[in-house]
Amino acid sequence: MSDCLFCRIVAGEIPATIVHETDRVLAFRDIAPQAPVHVVVIPKEHWADIAVLAANDRDLAGELLDEVTQVAADEGLGDGFRIVFNTGPDGGQTVEHVHAHLLGGRGMAWPPG
Ligand code: 5GP
Ligand code: ZN
Repeated sequence: MSDCLFCRIVAGEIPATIVHETDRVLAFRDIAPQAPVHVVVIPKEHWADIAVLAANDRDLAGELLDEVTQVAADEGLGDGFRIVFNTGPDGGQTVEHVHAHLLGGRGMAWPPG
């Protein structure tokens, strides 16, 4: 989709700091990090959100999760991390190309304690 921001990153039309990629998934640093480690992980193929992806291509959804956990290990997040899939308007999704946020490098337990 030519008007999709993340498809344009996949196509190399918009620069991004790429952390890791395979033939089907891409991991890059978020432009506005919310934690010391904030990596966005996407399938290269366009799917709107995690619900649509999981309903249509479970293999790719699994590859996406494999990539997130592999990047977490590569980034040294042995003490834990958070994976967030903002989904739809009420979920706060602003880019309609499914993406996992990998957040870590600071304590994020909720409730704090
Ligand atoms: P959402 O709000 O849809 O869950 O997450 C979209 C994320 O994409 C946000 O965290 C935002 O900072 C990030 N983002 C938006 N535009 C760009 C960009 O051009 N490059 C990168 N690397 N991240 C972006
Ligand atoms: Zn897209």
